[in-house]
Amino acid sequence: MELLQAIHNKARLQPDKLVFISPAKQITYGELWQKSDQVAAFILAQNLKKQSPILIYGHMEPEMLISFLGSVKAGHPYIPVDTSIPLERVEKIITNSNTELLINVSGLPLPIDHSSIRMVNLEEMSKQESRTIDSSNWVKGHDNFYIIYTSGSTGNPKGVQISAANLQSFVDWMVEDFPIKGGLRFLNQAPFSFDLSVMNLYPCLVSGGTLIAMTKEMVAKPKHLFEGLEKSETQVWTSTPSFVQMCLMDPSFKSQLLPKLSVFLFCGEILPVSVCRQLRERFPEATIFNTYGPTEATVAVTFLEITDEVLEEYQTLPIGAPKSDTQIILLDEENEPVSEGEKGEMIIVGPSVSKGYLGQPELTNKAFFTYNGQQAYRTGDAGLNQNGLLFYKGRLDFQIKLHGYRMELEEIEYHIAKSKYVKSAVVVPIYQDDKIEYLSVLIIPAEHPFEKDYQLTGAIKKELGLVLPAYMIPRKFSYHKELPITPNGKVDRKQIREQVLL
Ligand code: AMP
Repeated sequence: MELLQAIHNKARLQPDKLVFISPAKQITYGELWQKSDQVAAFILAQNLKKQSPILIYGHMEPEMLISFLGSVKAGHPYIPVDTSIPLERVEKIITNSNTELLINVSGLPLPIDHSSIRMVNLEEMSKQESRTIDSSNWVKGHDNFYIIYTSGSTGNPKGVQISAANLQSFVDWMVEDFPIKGGLRFLNQAPFSFDLSVMNLYPCLVSGGTLIAMTKEMVAKPKHLFEGLEKSETQVWTSTPSFVQMCLMDPSFKSQLLPKLSVFLFCGEILPVSVCRQLRERFPEATIFNTYGPTEATVAVTFLEITDEVLEEYQTLPIGAPKSDTQIILLDEENEPVSEGEKGEMIIVGPSVSKGYLGQPELTNKAFFTYNGQQAYRTGDAGLNQNGLLFYKGRLDFQIKLHGYRMELEEIEYHIAKSKYVKSAVVVPIYQDDKIEYLSVLIIPAEHPFEKDYQLTGAIKKELGLVLPAYMIPRKFSYHKELPITPNGKVDRKQIREQVLL
């Protein structure tokens, strides 16, 4: 059934059931439906350009959900922007997306200088007379439903356009192939500006469940996080492996804390065998799924249940097989399919693949194409197929995952090199076992007034804090007279990595 219609049905059948619980506030299905109609009525009264995106700024307030649904009911896609994103980056998103309306639900001031956009808060919207919004206004088919911005190698974030049809394919698969039906309680840990959050949000809403917010304030303090978890009565857990690994450091993270937990869904980075072994011991009743996919193909496209047999058999866990409406082909450097057991670039083909990056035809043409009449995406991930199971074999470029966050090393380098104190910079990921622990940057400094390196580092970090989210700022800074260069004149990353490791 069509996604918004399915949510509407739940709102009709169970108007008093809680749909979203955040530390400060909770709302029911009835309230979500009625208040999002009010937001949609407000948006329709603004006479915006047809299908122009609406930026929604906040963290995990129930009003985020209300505004998401309000936008799509009024026929406009939304761009979720978390409060952890620095203002300059928010401005870049506004410029790239040509947003005309920004809904600020955060309660925080947003000092942005953009004369072309209208900024509203909840109070203003609540003056709007409420009315039922006819479904003919709703976003549908290939129209954009949401746009999520991810790190871009050119120094600017890029907006991945996800249509109603893309999202429908993803949600249908989730509800069909995972044991998450029947009004369960879903944990929401990822901020809404990351597509991992979509893995709970819409499967939860269409199946009539309740979403429990774990805010960044809770996650920052283990005591609050564990109190929140205990109260949450979570049944469906969705997170990056990094987040669950952090929870596992506390011995009280076990079934006594979350006795109703029945499913773990992981996505976004390599799922280590050791994590699954610990989860099997501490939550013997729960099933574990490894899923794989990029934002560009709507959250995830492959899956595998990690049973004890799988854990026995593999030292590196497979990412499984694609969902039934999707194909993954592996191509070599000449764009020829590789044979079984050989490595190739994973190309995702199917109905959940995005139409491309908003307003970026060149980037879109590089990564997206049509294959046998279907939309296809070059992931930049290496993969290998063995006995019908796919294995993830690392990246083919400079995109990395650090603590579950996706980023392009080139974007970080671009911003560091823009500093007036810097001539050039190379960012290197530092690994422990197979996992990136932190980022180190090697800098050739320009002239600067500082006596000590730590003062220079402080000044550069301050500049970076204005343009990059905290998780993208390298932990370690070092200064050099020169950096090694390859014979063809490029920075020699391999040699640098070896130097850094010494
Ligand atoms: P994002 O767009 O943030 O979801 O990041 C997508 C990237 O995360 C993919 O292209 C992979 O490089 C990586 N990734 C996602 N899921 C997995 C997984 N299960 N195992 C290994 N890497 C993954």
